Amino acid sequence: MPRVNGPRVLRVDVLRPTPGALDEGAAALRSGQLVAFPTETVYGLGANACSAPAVERIFAVKQRPADNPLIVHVHSLEAAAEVTARITPLARELAGRWWPGPLTLVLEADPGLPDVTTGGLSTVAVRMPGHPLALALLRAAELPVAAPSANRSGRPSPTTAQHVVAELGTGVDLILDGGPCSVGVESTVVDARGERPIVLREGAVSREHLGLGTDDAQEGDVRASPGTRYRHYAPACAVELVAAGDGVARASRLAQQGRRVGLIGFTAAHPPTRTVAVVRDAADLAQRLYGALRDAEAAGLEMVVVEAVEEVGIGRAVMDRLRRAAAG
Ligand code: AMP
Ligand code: MG
Repeated sequence: MPRVNGPRVLRVDVLRPTPGALDEGAAALRSGQLVAFPTETVYGLGANACSAPAVERIFAVKQRPADNPLIVHVHSLEAAAEVTARITPLARELAGRWWPGPLTLVLEADPGLPDVTTGGLSTVAVRMPGHPLALALLRAAELPVAAPSANRSGRPSPTTAQHVVAELGTGVDLILDGGPCSVGVESTVVDARGERPIVLREGAVSREHLGLGTDDAQEGDVRASPGTRYRHYAPACAVELVAAGDGVARASRLAQQGRRVGLIGFTAAHPPTRTVAVVRDAADLAQRLYGALRDAEAAGLEMVVVEAVEEVGIGRAVMDRLRRAAAG
C-alpha cells in the first residue's frame, strides 16, 4: 500500500499480538528501519541498537542532540549481558526485582556497541520493558533495540500511537498501535555499576520502591545522564505549576486578564478557563499528563496551569517533568 498521508500504523491486540504484526515489526527492525511501539511508560522509537546507520536515523528524525544517549531495550537479562561489559551484582538484584518493568540500568557498555547508541560514553542504559507487545517484538526481532521516546526532542513524550503520528509523521517507517500507555512517564534511570543504585533520572519506579538505600546523584552523575540537562517535555503553550488547590483561582485570574488559559488539576475550572483534565491523584496525572499537555496546545491555549502533586512515589517523576515543562 503506498504511503502518501502518513506512516504505516498497525493496530495490535496487546495481549494476543498477531504474529503477522510482530513479524513485520521484527523484519523492519532487522532491515534498519524505525519502528515505534508502545511500552508501559511511553511510546518508543525503535532501531537496531547494533546498527550505527539505523540509530543515526533516530537522532535525525527526533532532532536529538548527539550526546544524549539512548536506552537499549532487551527481552531478558541474558540479552542485556550482550550489550554490556559486565552485569554487576547490584544490576542482577535490581533486574530480578524490577524486570520486566520501568527501571533502566546504566552499566559499562560492551565495546562493540556503536558510539552513536551510547552518545560516545563508555556506559550504556538498558531496560527490559514490561509491556507485552514490546516484549513480544523484542523476542521476535532477536535484537537489542535502542528506543527513546517517539517525539521530537524537547517535546512531551507520546503515550498513544496518534501522538507518534502527530510528532514524527512519515519519519517513522512503522507504528505498532497498542493503545494508551499505562504508566505515562518515562522509566527511572539508575547507575548500577557500584554497590548502591544512584538515581540519575526520576521515573516510574520511585526511590522509596527501589529501597536498598539509594544514593543521591552528585553533580558529576547528572552530567553522566546527559539527557537530563536538556529542555524537555514542553508543549507549544506555556506551563505554570501551582500548589494543589490554587489552580482554579490562579487560572481564573489569568482568564480575567484576557489570557486563553486551561487547567490540569484536581477540580474543574470555572469558564472561560478551559478544564483540560481533572485528575484523581499522582498516578492518574502521570498517566494523562503528556496527553493533556497536547490537548492544551491543540485547543490553542496560551497557557495551562497545572496543580502540583506531593513528591512521593511516582509524584517525584511527575514533578520533575512538570518543572522541566514549565521551564521550557
Ligand atoms: P529517553 O529515551 O528519551 O527517555 O532518554 C533516555 C535518557 O536516559 C537519556 O536522556 C539519559 O538521561 C539517560 N541515559 C541513557 N543512556 C545513558 C548512559 N549511558 N548514562 C547515563 N544516562 C543515560
Ligand atoms: Mg524522551
